[in-house]
Amino acid sequence: MIEGRYVLTNITIINGKNNRAKPDMFLKIHDGNIEEIGPMANYVPSASREVDMSGYYAMPGLIDAHIHLAGGRGCGLWGDTEILCEPKEVRAMRSVYEAQKMLKHGFTTLRDISWNGLYLKRIFHDKVMPGPKVIACGPGLARSGGHCDSPQLPLEFVKKNHFWAILSDGREECIKNVRRVLREGADQIKFWATGGGNWGTDRITDTHYSQEEMNAICEEAHRIAGTMVCAHCETEETIRMALKAGVDTIEHGEELNEKLAEEMSQKGVILVPTLYLLANWYDFVKTPGSDAPKLIRPDAFLYREADTLLTDQEKNRYHKQVIDSFHLALKKGVKIALGSDTVYEPACEYGEQSMQELKELIKQGMSVDQAIKSATEIAAQACGMAHRVGTIEPGKAADLLLFKENPVENIKMLTDKDNIEYVIVDGKLAVEHGKLAW
Ligand SMILES: [Zn+2]
Repeated sequence: MIEGRYVLTNITIINGKNNRAKPDMFLKIHDGNIEEIGPMANYVPSASREVDMSGYYAMPGLIDAHIHLAGGRGCGLWGDTEILCEPKEVRAMRSVYEAQKMLKHGFTTLRDISWNGLYLKRIFHDKVMPGPKVIACGPGLARSGGHCDSPQLPLEFVKKNHFWAILSDGREECIKNVRRVLREGADQIKFWATGGGNWGTDRITDTHYSQEEMNAICEEAHRIAGTMVCAHCETEETIRMALKAGVDTIEHGEELNEKLAEEMSQKGVILVPTLYLLANWYDFVKTPGSDAPKLIRPDAFLYREADTLLTDQEKNRYHKQVIDSFHLALKKGVKIALGSDTVYEPACEYGEQSMQELKELIKQGMSVDQAIKSATEIAAQACGMAHRVGTIEPGKAADLLLFKENPVENIKMLTDKDNIEYVIVDGKLAVEHGKLAW
């Protein structure tokens, strides 16, 4: 068991600041932190335990900046009905499995949007069991009838049982719920500026919060030092409004224009494009076994938009928009963080979807180097944790992945979990050849 004070010797280090591999290094770890790094030529043996890591490569643990440790089980549209009707406790217990599965895939820090994250954060921090660092947004703020309200169920029931949202309408309620979520232990605040395309009144093209509400959320969150705000924005208009309100990260953001991309770049606002999910959106929302999925319509739209089908033409238009927007962000130098938006199995698999996201970032134009930075240094910034994680540097947490091949030269090291030999969290061995180490 690796923990406490020790030195990894003869190791090749990819520190994450640049992705060049430095061979023949030593890495001293103490109390969960990286104490010292240097070439073996300068190594002075001390009383610390030495672990010879000849032939191994170390890189910083990966970070997923957009995930829901929701603990539900569902598929397709309306999957949330079954999930909401399950006891919260069952979901909470499943979320442990989800977080640990992420860890087995090399993700040592997660930015989570769910109630569960608030509690997972504590038990993993206290080392009750192996788990990643959870940067908790708690439940995100959604309007009544918005993304995460499940209008097929009675309102009071949804308010009590939703797993990742807290319904908030109007300036006063937004302020109150920001305070409430922070009180429960959240590190960041999330809100849905547009719908998400899952439920009846949840169109991605509608603006769900007023400028006044967005301003109130940001102002209230930022009142508490270090609290960042992330906004789900799927339209040009809401990206503009959210930037005006002062958000720190934009989630999805598939309708960027030149001016908005420039503004994000200048202000250092981070984009979490959740590219794999959006590029394959129409397949995700398909109910297994059905061909063209029907758009779900609540009572209010029964006559206006009955039996609308998702057409191939619409699918292709949307796909192009997603990719064009991502290219624009890349071109304008917007900081881009990896986020998978994994929500529940079997619709998407924890860990696997994050690795798919890494592949998608490369497939759509990032260099391997850029993609790794998105999953380490930039994702650390999106978590407000760049001072603690994302690179291998003295003073930072010893969150490390160890491989037998250079992951920068062979990306398969990162896109297939079986290639990760060891995962270390806070200096403690957490995963050994795909299995939890304690
Ligand atoms: Zn999400």
